[in-house]
Amino acid sequence: MNDTKNELNYKDLLDRIYMSLPNKALDDSRFILPTVESMVMGKQTIWKNFSKVAKTIKRDESQIYKFIMKEISTSSSIQNGTLILNGVFNNYKLNQIFEKYLKNFVICLACKKPDTDIVTQNGVKVLKCSVCGAINPLPKL
Ligand SMILES: [Zn+2]
Repeated sequence: MNDTKNELNYKDLLDRIYMSLPNKALDDSRFILPTVESMVMGKQTIWKNFSKVAKTIKRDESQIYKFIMKEISTSSSIQNGTLILNGVFNNYKLNQIFEKYLKNFVICLACKKPDTDIVTQNGVKVLKCSVCGAINPLPKL
């Protein structure tokens, strides 16, 4: 009789494991946020994966560009998928600025997921979340 009881407990345990595993695995692989890859060349800083990053987070390069320029007042240009900044900026600083951009223009305030789109609603641009459906206000650029 003891054997039957153990079997049931084991099955219960397995059910519990299977129920808790897949969701977490899905969440983690759904969307991996990119980071800034940069290098300093003389008096310039090259953000090497600028276009790639923009594509990954589904945002216009010009919008990210505008935000970065507001954060670091320097001149720059987009060339062959890279962003070339005049001045020396370390990678940590660039990632900090990029994270600020993500918090403002990509990550959903309600569920903290980055799976969002910028849509126009009643003439106003808002951040619409594909995961929870929340509509987030966007700061002015
Ligand atoms: Zn959401």
